Amino acid sequence: MNTFGPPKLVLTRGEGAHVWDADGREYVDLLGGIAVNALGHAHPRLVEAVTTQLRTLGHISNFFASEPQIALAERLVGLLGTEARVFFTNSGAEANEAAFKLTRRTGRTRIVATTGSFHGRTMGALALTSKQAYREPFEPLPGDVTFVEYGDVAALEAAVDDTTAAVLIEPVQGEAGVIVPPRDYLPAAQRIAHDHGALLWLDEIQTGIGRTGAWFAHQHPDLVSAPVVPDIVTLAKGLAGGIPIGACLATHGSGKLFDPGNHGTTFGGNPVAAAAALAVLDVIGEDGFLARVTEAGERLMAVAAADRRVVETRGAGLLVGLTLAEPKSAEVVTAAQDAGFIVNGATPERVRMAPPLVLTDADIDAFGAAWPAILDNAGVQG
Ligand SMILES: *Cc1c(COP(=O)(O)O)cnc(C)c1O
Repeated sequence: MNTFGPPKLVLTRGEGAHVWDADGREYVDLLGGIAVNALGHAHPRLVEAVTTQLRTLGHISNFFASEPQIALAERLVGLLGTEARVFFTNSGAEANEAAFKLTRRTGRTRIVATTGSFHGRTMGALALTSKQAYREPFEPLPGDVTFVEYGDVAALEAAVDDTTAAVLIEPVQGEAGVIVPPRDYLPAAQRIAHDHGALLWLDEIQTGIGRTGAWFAHQHPDLVSAPVVPDIVTLAKGLAGGIPIGACLATHGSGKLFDPGNHGTTFGGNPVAAAAALAVLDVIGEDGFLARVTEAGERLMAVAAADRRVVETRGAGLLVGLTLAEPKSAEVVTAAQDAGFIVNGATPERVRMAPPLVLTDADIDAFGAAWPAILDNAGVQG
């Protein structure tokens, strides 16, 4: 169906941070399947993991356990650094649906979410998403959701009370154009939620698994002023490097978790997806990988900001937002594509980049060299 409008390109092949279209033209992929292709395209370790697992055991349903699924759950809990249990899904929206249902196990129904939020397109996830244009055609939406200004501690203080089941926050807002909140925001949100017996639920679907240069954005010292221990974390996008998977991690502090019959999925966390995710975690966990993500992100921001028509750069690691002097992101996306670079127009003013985490300096410098002409061709004035 026509959900994304006419496709911009037909892509046929990829390698590293490069893709080729049906006419054989090459592009540097600075979007990475929307923050998904963490290891780039056709990474040998990912290909090997998926191939070997599919040859061994491809799918079994969740009536049974599989070794990769158990190993993945243990790895994720270890990275979170606190006791937790995991429910696997096939997507981000489904991870949020699971979490949304889980919040009802508190005996409360109210969720406090934020303006500019994006949590997915299913009815429950959409109920948590603030964008009016996405919501309106599908109202009434389920739930009991209050939206407060993102990044504003006082607004949280005012909205959260003893009827609140959970406070739901993206540590950095991705779809909104890469919005980084003040460093004290998440610690304050945790305090406010816990003062009222509410859960802190972080949607790390876009920011998790190395994207910002830390395993989780809520653990990144540049993004939080003090350690945060969320009660629920949802993951997806980069987790299996392009094989569909999502996860809802919940600590025991989140009160009642699911009991048999409360929730389920046929495909979620199947052995192939779990093996893919383990390969991604193995590569990201190698010495120096996360430091390189930070370094690459800084270089990418610097080459983009070298043109004065970029009035602001925001982000962490390889989640980068550029604010243009004029609201011409759509024109920039087209001009970039013509020049052989794939970027995303998150809002009319903001260009978003979420490239493979294996992006090389050569790719970044090629983008930097092409960038002024891209802005010229898009008609962006200083
Ligand atoms: C992409 C995204 C989702 C939705 O994930 P899907 O896999 O598209 O369902 C939810 N939350 C955030 C923060 C996202 O970036």
